[in-house]
Amino acid sequence: MKKTYLLLLVLFILVFQSVNAQYQITSENLIKTVSFLSSKDLQGRLSGSEEYFVAANYMAKEFADIGLLPFSQNSYFQKLKVEYNQILPKVEFSLYKDGNFVEKYNLGKDYVFRGFSGAGDINAQVVFVGYGISIPEYDDYKNVDVKGKIVLAFKYNPSWNLDGVNWQSSLPREKARVAREHGAVGIMFISFPNDENPQQPIGSVMHGNGEQVNIPQIHIDLPVANDFFEGSDYKLKELQTKIDSEKINLSFALKTEAKIFVETDYVKEKETVNIIGIYPGTDEKLKDEFVILGAHLDHVGGQAGEIYFPGANDNASGSSAVLEVAKMFAKNKLQTKRSVMFVLFASEESGLEGAEYLASNLGIESSKVTAMLNMDCIAHGDSIQLGSGNSAPNLWQIAKKIDSENAKLTIRNTWAGGGADASPFHEKGIPTLYFVTKNSYTHLHCLTDTPETLNPILYEEITKLVYLTTFEVANGNYNREVIVK
Ligand SMILES: [Zn+2]
Repeated sequence: MKKTYLLLLVLFILVFQSVNAQYQITSENLIKTVSFLSSKDLQGRLSGSEEYFVAANYMAKEFADIGLLPFSQNSYFQKLKVEYNQILPKVEFSLYKDGNFVEKYNLGKDYVFRGFSGAGDINAQVVFVGYGISIPEYDDYKNVDVKGKIVLAFKYNPSWNLDGVNWQSSLPREKARVAREHGAVGIMFISFPNDENPQQPIGSVMHGNGEQVNIPQIHIDLPVANDFFEGSDYKLKELQTKIDSEKINLSFALKTEAKIFVETDYVKEKETVNIIGIYPGTDEKLKDEFVILGAHLDHVGGQAGEIYFPGANDNASGSSAVLEVAKMFAKNKLQTKRSVMFVLFASEESGLEGAEYLASNLGIESSKVTAMLNMDCIAHGDSIQLGSGNSAPNLWQIAKKIDSENAKLTIRNTWAGGGADASPFHEKGIPTLYFVTKNSYTHLHCLTDTPETLNPILYEEITKLVYLTTFEVANGNYNREVIVK
């Protein structure tokens, strides 16, 4: 008897829900878009690439289909120009000894090209150059001749300091520039062998400012680096320990050679787009004010037609969430006092260029932006983090309160100063919140950042939190605060 009642009740609820069919945020819908954006067809969504435009057009059409207004005269695209580089098919990276071939390495597993690698067809001796730094106070190149050779350097700068010395930039462009300046024809980067979990070769287009350095630049895995050290006096771990503990330069030629072949399609200024749709507010006064909800659509691309970086968590997850939140507003015909600007940014991966461009070219007074909410890497991990709360405490309180009444997914700490694509808006004095999951970076910039690794429950909950926060801010119960820098 009891069971029958229960069954009837469930049936009633189901019927009731379908009558009041409202669009809802579900992990299924979220992950469906993620699966498309992180598919092989989209080849890692390198900003400015053909595949990036497939993603951009798809999202713009979704914006149009739900009735968002285009950002400017019939277009959802805001155009900007960025540096662009494609690693073309047919690459090689091999170990040689005394002029003889020893081993060919696998792209993606043993090594990855840096996003802005130059082209080259080289076969040369390898020279270890420590941190690859060359400044008057600390010169890794002072005792070695690297002319016509390939240098091997730590990817990052020392974690220690020399009195009053500023290291050169730790970004690959600067290290490659210094190598070429000394006559090197290629550079291989390695992670720290003494790290607890040394970083694997990752896809990255973060190179820093400056001109293209047209020599091959690759990030190699540590076991591969060990191959190149064969026959030398040091093991890699001891070498790092010695350099770091004695704060010395210790560079020397190895007894091995490397062959690297790579061709590239480099374009200094290539067109790419931010994708922007507007959901207009209804209050006569407040509709001129905007809440911006954004996430970056781009990722780090693919290489040589052999591998691609799916970027499911980074940041197909945030992009799909922007669309689902937009659907919640549009499909449910919500009325909000303020307007909402839904944005998918280009070129976060090379240094927040899309977000910086929009922050400087808003088309409205920046004082009219009530708040900017950003999502980046929101679907892998175990709980929710909110960044920039120390800079915009009132905004942070709104999200925290909503979370405490709903998912209660432990929003632990926060920090100041925007973060990722929120930073350029923070710099303009706009209150920001940065949504990211905790322990999100297991597969960051790896070939394994796939939809299968996402946490659907967490992903759905954080998206609901973003939706409710966006609604609350858009509907007038928040006044823009003076941010704490
Ligand atoms: Zn990234």
